[in-house]
Parts: sequence; structure tokens; C-alpha cells
Amino acid sequence: MKLIINFKPFSFQLTRQLITSKGIIHNKVGLLLQIKDSDGNCGWGEVSPIEKNELKKSIESLDFIGRQTTKDSIENYLCELQGLGALTFGLGASLADLENLTIRKLDFEGFDITKSAYLLPTDIDPLESIFNYIDRLNEKNGSCTIKWKVSNQENNFKEEKILQKILDILPKNFKIRIDPNGGWSRQKAQEWSSELKNEPRLEWIEQPLPSKDIEGLFSLANQIPIALDESLVEFPYLRKIWKSWQIRRPALDGDPRLLLKEIEQEDSQTVISTAFETGIGRRWINHLAARQVKGKNPCAPGLAPGWCPKSPLFSNNPKLVWEAA
Ligand SMILES: [Mg+2]
Repeated sequence: MKLIINFKPFSFQLTRQLITSKGIIHNKVGLLLQIKDSDGNCGWGEVSPIEKNELKKSIESLDFIGRQTTKDSIENYLCELQGLGALTFGLGASLADLENLTIRKLDFEGFDITKSAYLLPTDIDPLESIFNYIDRLNEKNGSCTIKWKVSNQENNFKEEKILQKILDILPKNFKIRIDPNGGWSRQKAQEWSSELKNEPRLEWIEQPLPSKDIEGLFSLANQIPIALDESLVEFPYLRKIWKSWQIRRPALDGDPRLLLKEIEQEDSQTVISTAFETGIGRRWINHLAARQVKGKNPCAPGLAPGWCPKSPLFSNNPKLVWEAA
């Protein structure tokens, strides 16, 4: 099948800046992909890595593939584009749309974003945000899972003290996830684990140690629930052997058709998480999140409600997203 690849840049600003131990995220930039077949049908994808250098490499790879190509040729490249998870996501997503016309019908499921874990703002006191969130939940339905990004270099919060205060006010039916984004030393991770190991409201600690400290992560996982995130992006082989929670950000993860198959496996402990997508990427995030919560190990996906602005760039209709970029 002959195909034409088109792409164009997009950018947007998050509604507030996200401060992590790795730095600050405020803007998202990337490419929208449109792959057209000879009948004029379109497949849609987006390529938006967190690392700037990966975007540059993705554009070089797209130039190498060329504007006119075939389905088989793209499928072959997908196996070779190791380390470019955002590009393989975009290409795989586009091909999936075209396959939908003939091979199989994938009905994108929606996902109610209020059922996502609540990501605490990182630039104000987390306690205040938790109070407000609990208050709001009393009035309407929503998720009782809170995610707290810690090891924050930009503020002077005494996080150990705040932890105690959070545990004092957090209702019994709530769960908390703590995410240092790889920012802790082994000693610090040990201190937090000792503090939290009998805490029933702790759902897991996410990527406590740097992504390369695999031995340290396996060892901690014997004491307390640990979810891997950055390690899975850097060392994809861990996706096969890590037998606990896996935070998967589809837009960085690779071909979404493969992730979908993985989620449908019985022992999957996948947690779908956002990397802040346009409406084109969001179709997949929602679909995968909807499938994930129907699995054997359901838990709230991490879709960061309220962090993306409202605009046609976030429409469910890929054509409108394309026109808005
Ligand atoms: Mg994380």
C-alpha cells in the first residue's frame, strides 16, 4: 500500500508548570503526523518526546523514511527505531487508523477524566491542594487517588514533615502515590520506605531511585510497593520482567498496538499515564486507560486532569486537531 507522510509542528502551554526532580515542564512541543493512503484515507499520530534531542532525531528519521513510502516499509522501520518511543507511537498510531478501515475495527473508548488520579500542583503547598480536593469530592464523584510529586528542587517544602501532615488529614478511603521521578538516593528511599511500609493508604512509590539503579529498585520492591516509570522507558526489557506496577506513558512508549496487546494480558499491572498529549494522542491514552481499568488489576490511570488548556488542539476529532496546529 502506497502512503504519503505529512507532518507539522504543534506547541502548547500547560495550565501550570510541572516541577519535578528532573526539571520544569511548562511547554509541550512536537509534531502531528498524518499518513494518507491512495484513496485519501488518513491515519493520525503525534510525536512529542520530553527530551528535545529525541525530537530532533525523530525528524531526521522521518526525513530518512521519506514523504512517499509504503505500509510495509514503515512497519520495518518501526523495529529499527529503538530509543525513539515517541516516533514509534506516532507512526504506529497512524497505521492503526488505516488498518481500522480494512483489517479490524478498533472503537476508541472514551475515559471519564474525573476517574483519573488527582495530580497535586507542584508549585504550591500540597496540603492546601489536598484540603480543597477532598472538599470538592464531597460534592461530586471523582477519584480518591492522589499523586504527589516529591524531591522537588525548586521549593523549600520540608517534604518529610508534609508527609506526616498529609497522612493526618487523608481520609481512610483515599490512596496516595508518591513520585520522586528518580530523585532519591538509596538512603533517602530507605527512610521513606521505613516510614511508609505499614501505611495502608500508600498505593506505591513511583521510580524512587534513578532509572539506572535497577538493583536498588528490585531490592526496595521487596519492602514496599514500587512502580517503575522512567526505568521502563530507558530499559524496555524491564517491561517483560518487572512483576509489579508499571507506569506506561503511551505517547513515549512506542507502538500503541503492542501496548494494547500487553494490557489485555491477564497478569498486566499496567497504569496508563499522560505525557500531556493533543487530542490525537489523547484518543489512544483514553482508550488504553479504559482497557486498563477493565483488567484484573484495575487502578486509577494518571491523566493529570486540568493540566492541558482548552482549545481545538485537544478535540476528539483528529482533523480539527490537525487544522488547529
Ligand atoms: Mg512518574
